Amino acid sequence: MREFRGKLTHFSKDEVKLIKSAYSLAEKAHEGQMREGGLPFFVHPVAVAQIVLDLGLDATSVVCALLHDVVEDTSVTLKEIETQFGLEVANIVEGLTKLEKFNFESKEEAQAENFKKMFFAMSKDIRIILIKLADRIHNMRSICAKPVKKQIATAQETLDIYASIAGRLGVAKFKAELEDLAFRYLEPGAYKFLVTNVEKQRKKQNHFLLQVKETLKNQLAEFGINGEIKGRPKNLYSIFRKMKALNISLEEVYDLIAVRVIVETESECYSILGTVHKIYPPLPNRFKDYIVVPKSNKYQSLHTTVMTPHGMPIEIQIRTFEMDELAEYGVAAHWKYKEDKAGKNKLDDKIAWLRRALELEEDYKDSKEFYSLMKSDLGADEIVVSSPMGDLYNLRAGSTPIDFAYAVHSEVGNKCTGAKVNGVIVKLEKPLQNGDVVQIITNQNSKGPSRDWLNIAQTPSAKAKIRSFFKKQEKPENIKRGKEMLEMEAKRRGYKLSDLLEPVSVQNVMRRYTFISEADMFASVGYGGLTTGQVLFKLIQLHDKKAKAQIRAVAKQSKNISDPNGIVVDGAAGFLTSLAKCCNPVPGDEIVGYISRGRGVLVHRTSCPNVRGFEQERLIEATFKREADVKPFNVSLQVTAHDEQGVLADVASIIKILKLSMSAFNARTERGEAIMNFTVLVPSLKDLEVLLNKLRSHSKIKSVYRV
Ligand code: MN
Repeated sequence: MREFRGKLTHFSKDEVKLIKSAYSLAEKAHEGQMREGGLPFFVHPVAVAQIVLDLGLDATSVVCALLHDVVEDTSVTLKEIETQFGLEVANIVEGLTKLEKFNFESKEEAQAENFKKMFFAMSKDIRIILIKLADRIHNMRSICAKPVKKQIATAQETLDIYASIAGRLGVAKFKAELEDLAFRYLEPGAYKFLVTNVEKQRKKQNHFLLQVKETLKNQLAEFGINGEIKGRPKNLYSIFRKMKALNISLEEVYDLIAVRVIVETESECYSILGTVHKIYPPLPNRFKDYIVVPKSNKYQSLHTTVMTPHGMPIEIQIRTFEMDELAEYGVAAHWKYKEDKAGKNKLDDKIAWLRRALELEEDYKDSKEFYSLMKSDLGADEIVVSSPMGDLYNLRAGSTPIDFAYAVHSEVGNKCTGAKVNGVIVKLEKPLQNGDVVQIITNQNSKGPSRDWLNIAQTPSAKAKIRSFFKKQEKPENIKRGKEMLEMEAKRRGYKLSDLLEPVSVQNVMRRYTFISEADMFASVGYGGLTTGQVLFKLIQLHDKKAKAQIRAVAKQSKNISDPNGIVVDGAAGFLTSLAKCCNPVPGDEIVGYISRGRGVLVHRTSCPNVRGFEQERLIEATFKREADVKPFNVSLQVTAHDEQGVLADVASIIKILKLSMSAFNARTERGEAIMNFTVLVPSLKDLEVLLNKLRSHSKIKSVYRV
């Protein structure tokens, strides 16, 4: 327990108590067990808990780390853990136990299955994976006690799977350690060389590094910016990867240490970048703005490589404190900074995104397929090639110059006519090798890719880009389909496509999506480049705008039309209006106008359910004129009463007493109820209210509705 004490201070008393009892339980359970190399087994869970603690995870994680091998290797059951530590701890320990049961290095089949399990476990509780990674770190740290064959197999798996997952989760700290630990056993010669020589090389670089840091520190002070400057050593495996990919010597790797400037705000990042470029000349094509375009794991930073007065280039990374946390700790940042209420939400949003990216569809029934898919996605089967300018591209192993061309840009792909690899002209189907320098030969007059490129390209994105080129080409068919799709959707929305295709509107849509013709627009819908909604939205909007303007113009011309309904539309009288049959608005009702095609403005009650289905663009403000100006109006009612004799006569007499005239009377009996429908002419809304109140207060009448 001693090694923990100093580090538990940020936990509550109860949490420390829980950690202590987990410690005792594990200690007792593992008693007498030994690790290879002669140490007591209990050393292992304690070390894993320590790694978890250093990562900044919560007390629950520390408890689970201590207990992670208890169910697997001792007589303690999950039920007992649940009783003593609760369901959350039991669930995490269960997840860890399940992961333990599979041996990665056995068969590919089993490996695939385990990999899939790992990912599903991750979507349950990310702490399961973080503890599993800590477990792997400690096992790798102490793997020297195992047989060589086992060392290599475990190291390969650590590199292929665990380091990749750590990278995906954005936990750079774990990724670097796992990579270097695996590297040590996979490439012992190279590892040994780098360990001894990187340090020497760093020492050489150190003196001017200090000067750069000093200069930058002074700049921060001058601007009054609160910030930090750190030297960030590159991990050995990344150095090795870079040397291999670019085929360069250690002396040529100039970013053994990058200088990192950490400030408070994004705008400070850019102002520091400006000064850096003023002091040191930037190297061309080396500036990367990952703030505007973050990496897929949400990594954000500005990277630039500048030339120092000593003639050594140096990489400078500029980012905010928050970006730095996320870059180092990834998902783990969520627990590390739990107390920090202020910055938390923003960080959590990003982590949530990361989690979603990891959640997997259940479609992947076939473990093997799933494994190869994820593995390639994670970078295990990747090669790194470079452009003649030195820009690096990660491509799937087996990629061809065509894949490279499309990775650079779809236009480079479409105009590609040949390729040089390491200065030699090659066939386009030649697979690229790690470290190749690829130059694409393009011709502006090229008519585009050839169809068999679809078989040559290896990456899904290149294939998609080639396919999309052809889709754009297959016009006649696409035009026809696109037009039909638009016609159907327009009809569904209550329009005729031909009405919508006014030249001005079409021009507008063409400009918006850079179409060259109306046919081009149809074709694009036909092959799925644009949705019908994207095209129709603008067309309808423009059409309705025009319709409204027309109605207003007509209204202006015929100002003296007498509107028997007495309705003011959009602030003016004299419109051609009609009252909707569905809701029968009467003076005093809240109403809204609907600009119909050719029938003027249809007036509905605002509460009419039909209004909700209308296009918003066609709705127009409407009100009844003041009541004094209004002539008597008809209103239809439905009265439901107990089917007792005399109720019909009662209704008739109420109407008579109020001196109203009634028409279209109709009565029927249904399930013991009398249902009467009739229309009355009422002089005003007030009269209508009186009538409704009289009817409703009649003892035999159950309900009165306006129809
Ligand atoms: Mn373990």
